[in-house]
Amino acid sequence: MKIIDGKAISQQIKDEVKEKVAAMAAEGKQVCLAVILVGEDPASQVYVGNKKKACEYTGIRSESFELPESTTQEELLKLIDELNGRDDINGILVQLPLPKHIDEKAVINAISADKDVDGFHPESVGRLSIGDKGFLPCTPAGVIELLKRSDIPMSGKHCVVIGRSNIVGKPMALLMLRQNATVTICHSKTENLKEICKQADILIAAVGKPKMIDSSYVKEGATVIDVGIHRLEGKKLCGDVDFDDVSKVAGAMTPVPGGVGPMTIAMLMKNCAQGID
Ligand code: NDP
Repeated sequence: MKIIDGKAISQQIKDEVKEKVAAMAAEGKQVCLAVILVGEDPASQVYVGNKKKACEYTGIRSESFELPESTTQEELLKLIDELNGRDDINGILVQLPLPKHIDEKAVINAISADKDVDGFHPESVGRLSIGDKGFLPCTPAGVIELLKRSDIPMSGKHCVVIGRSNIVGKPMALLMLRQNATVTICHSKTENLKEICKQADILIAAVGKPKMIDSSYVKEGATVIDVGIHRLEGKKLCGDVDFDDVSKVAGAMTPVPGGVGPMTIAMLMKNCAQGID
């Protein structure tokens, strides 16, 4: 069984971005990401901190806007509007979730599509679905990089995605389709989930249930990608896949931690440095 090393692959991507950013700097172009955090959610603070660290590593300038919980939707939309208009800002990231009194959809929609480095704007989603160039959502795009860089063929293979969220499952399925996989999307109403999963050459779990996928869902030799992240008691991390059990049958799989997780930030850096083209 081959372990797909997301830590090493994400490092490779960050180093490529670093090189690109340096080459752009030599031409007098600077890449800058605006990072907006509203409120004091500790998990969000950690995510934002990690994004800023990755910016530092890759040479991307980051401009941070840490706003109080009491910030109104109007104030946030005004800030986004200002950042949309600034030529020195290439990407705008609003850390989710937002406080309850702010409409997330309105905020995502306000970000200019050509600065939408998270790939959540309806225009980015539309571009993805019709196959036009645009920002790709970081986690599913990271899964594609993991597969490509691990030499796992996707074309013609049966890929089963468990989960249909807007940020993981749906774009994941579209990206696999773009790689010419035959794609099945499963969700909480799917009948015969196990039987369908067992037909997969590539099984992608984005289900949000700790260790739900055991070896009884997996075909001998299949590739299993675990998008889930859960913190167990004692602070240990696990995914949606029961790693120890599935490793007995899978041909290749991602661990948690050290699989899909580190890819998300690496792909965010790639989006920042790349722009829409
Ligand atoms: P959501 O909760 O938004 O979506 C979960 C999906 O799984 C839904 O489509 C749901 O179906 C489906 N589902 C739930 N239970 C079952 C079941 N018993 N059988 C089949 N399908 C089921 O989660 P996200 O997509 O946001 O995230 C998925 C996982 O990935 C989470 O663990 C999350 O923490 C992790 N994650 C990791 C990231 C990373 O950087 N590695 C980034 C983002 C998320 P239905 O639509 O019918 O409700």
